[in-house]
Amino acid sequence: SSELRFRVVETAFKKKAVEVPTPKERPSEYFGKYVFNKAKMFKYLPDKVYQQLIDAAENGTPLNRNIADAVAAGMQKWAVEMGATHYTHWFHPLTEGTAEKHDAFLEHDGKGGMIEEFSGKLLIQQEPDASSFPSGGIRNTFEARGYSAWDPSSPAFIVDDTLFIPTIFIAYTGESLDYKAPLLKALRAVNKAALDVVHYFNPEVKKITTNLGWEQEYFLVDEGLYAARPDLLLTGRTLMGHESSKNQQLEDHYFGAIPTRVTAFMTDLEIESLKLGIPVKTRHNEVAPNQFELAPVFEECNLANDHNLLVMSLMRKIARQHGFRVLLHEKPFKGVNGSGKHNNWSLSTDTGIILMGPGKTAEDNLRFVTFIVNTLMAVYRHNGLLKASISSATNAHRLGANEAPPAIISSFLGKQLTQVLDHLADSTNDLAGLSGKQGMKLDIPQIPELLIDNTDRNRTSPFAFTGNRFEFRAIGSEANCASAMIALNAALGEQLIIFKKDVDALIEKGEPKISAILEIIRSYIKECRAIHFDGNGYSDEWKEEASKRGLDCETSVPLIFDNYLKESTVKMFESTGVMTRLELVARNEVKWETYTKKIQIEARVLGDLAMNHIIPVATRYQSQLIDNVYKMKDLYPAEKSSLLSSKNLEIIEEIGSRTIFIKEKVDEMIEARKVANVIESEREKAIAYHDNIVPMLEEIRYHIDKLELLVDDQLWTLPKYRELLFIR
Ligand code: ADP
Ligand code: MG
Repeated sequence: SSELRFRVVETAFKKKAVEVPTPKERPSEYFGKYVFNKAKMFKYLPDKVYQQLIDAAENGTPLNRNIADAVAAGMQKWAVEMGATHYTHWFHPLTEGTAEKHDAFLEHDGKGGMIEEFSGKLLIQQEPDASSFPSGGIRNTFEARGYSAWDPSSPAFIVDDTLFIPTIFIAYTGESLDYKAPLLKALRAVNKAALDVVHYFNPEVKKITTNLGWEQEYFLVDEGLYAARPDLLLTGRTLMGHESSKNQQLEDHYFGAIPTRVTAFMTDLEIESLKLGIPVKTRHNEVAPNQFELAPVFEECNLANDHNLLVMSLMRKIARQHGFRVLLHEKPFKGVNGSGKHNNWSLSTDTGIILMGPGKTAEDNLRFVTFIVNTLMAVYRHNGLLKASISSATNAHRLGANEAPPAIISSFLGKQLTQVLDHLADSTNDLAGLSGKQGMKLDIPQIPELLIDNTDRNRTSPFAFTGNRFEFRAIGSEANCASAMIALNAALGEQLIIFKKDVDALIEKGEPKISAILEIIRSYIKECRAIHFDGNGYSDEWKEEASKRGLDCETSVPLIFDNYLKESTVKMFESTGVMTRLELVARNEVKWETYTKKIQIEARVLGDLAMNHIIPVATRYQSQLIDNVYKMKDLYPAEKSSLLSSKNLEIIEEIGSRTIFIKEKVDEMIEARKVANVIESEREKAIAYHDNIVPMLEEIRYHIDKLELLVDDQLWTLPKYRELLFIR
């Protein structure tokens, strides 16, 4: 009954902020306290072992078994001193989130006692019982096992009583079953290709690093209210609920005035993040009520991604300690701004140059333009794939269908950069004679030393240039950033290899380096113009225009996934050594299956709620009205009573027709699911769910939301939007 709703609302109102003790040390002192970082490696490892581990972490040099034993011993010593009793390989399966299996350091010694054991072998490789993780058919449960393998480039850390060892997860036959393995390969590919290109300008550079700075958006909901919403609990989003009206929003400023519980949560989260070496920096309120954002300072991409996954699990844990639930779903509330995870992305050199940022000299700026234009080419050529890399059943609610960024990948450049590129493309100078020092006097307009267009932000662009980086904004709040980072970095890797070939071919023909670079850049700028769009990405005109330009405008998620199997995609991933065709095929099976499952669960939950909550409550209210109508009849003469009951009679009928519709649709949806469920192809099944079931969810919801407005608030059992969104 609605009693539960009112009780949880009342309890939520009374809740006080949980007190967060201020750490005795300063942030700089507890930063990385729980991480086996360089300082600790230095302290706990023999000199030679330390050197080799750093070399492995930074340059990918293979580690031998003896070294691994020594690392394991040092790591264990530190972990035990910190109070850890268990260790786990930590990996990123093809579902959201992370997986782990905790083992005690203690082992039987075979003589009735116990010994503490953690060898190099256990550090390097394990065989988690991983039959339940999706593999797209690569690893049949009975046929071959998958194993996890240590990633020395991301440091181990302690959570509670367990030492976490970041690992990749691969099939016995070598195919990757996770996000981390292909991410590491993509990073290696782009770093190698970028290094070759940077050497045109800066021969002294030895290493290129990919940077990622993510901005994580999320909602907080009081846990009592959350528990009273089975749809939130089971699907991560509200499958029904009428938008909170303006009036309520104004009234709710009153509630909004006391966000102390949220502040306490944020403080707690920040302290714990810092202890885990995550350089969190900014926090703020977002557009929607009860929506917030957390962002750290950017880091090397693989590490940044591990940190994002870690932060998401910290958020879940810490939110509960504060009586909240964190919602990482991309669209928990209809009609309310959704949550994304902007990925700020750039490449930089070991000499401190940010390759996506302008410099001081003309040559610096030619290098800058080179990387910008190659990025645009990569995004242009693989725009469908990049969209696929961020697509999911949940992110679909943000993209295209209901809310921008649109389901079309384009890139915003801003006025100044646009001018620079246009100028370069149109310049007809005879550059053949330019070389060496003379080449520096290129007619490139002076690009300000500081950030370009940093204020002129176009929030509607999914891939915006923001001064010294690109900001890939289409990523979903719940996603593993690696998916987008794999596609983007691999695509740029491929593109830079092509660029180098094109330029070298001209140089071989005798063209001076600078003019060869310029010539190729000029042709690229013209070739990829279609990807550049600075206008309003939310407008209908853009959809039309983008389709004319030949950009991928597909909005059906199962069909968007086809981009992974296009010949150009397979070629790109295979030529860069990031993924094989077999891996791509298998991963798409997982994507389609995951899509189907998500919609399937939503359909079941909505069907149940409609039948068990909505229809009974609406019918009860309808009966009360009918009762009233009869009493009117007893009390007044016929004419007067029918006048007095006219409105109630209308409502009685409206409830009747809406509940009939809901009941019929729920039955229809069950039938449609039965039909879809027997389809064998995962792709076809996902398409059936997308085409047939998803629209039904919307139709049913429409009528439920109308009933919510009609039915007596006192009877309504599910917490309403105004309660979920404004109580904190
Ligand atoms: P916004 O205005 O979009 O909120 P912020 O200034 O908060 O942007 O920065 C967002 C993220 O971008 C932060 O993680 C920041 O460290 C990161 N960032 C800044 N410069 C770069 C860069 N050159 N490459 C990658 N990430 C960067
Ligand atoms: Mg941003």
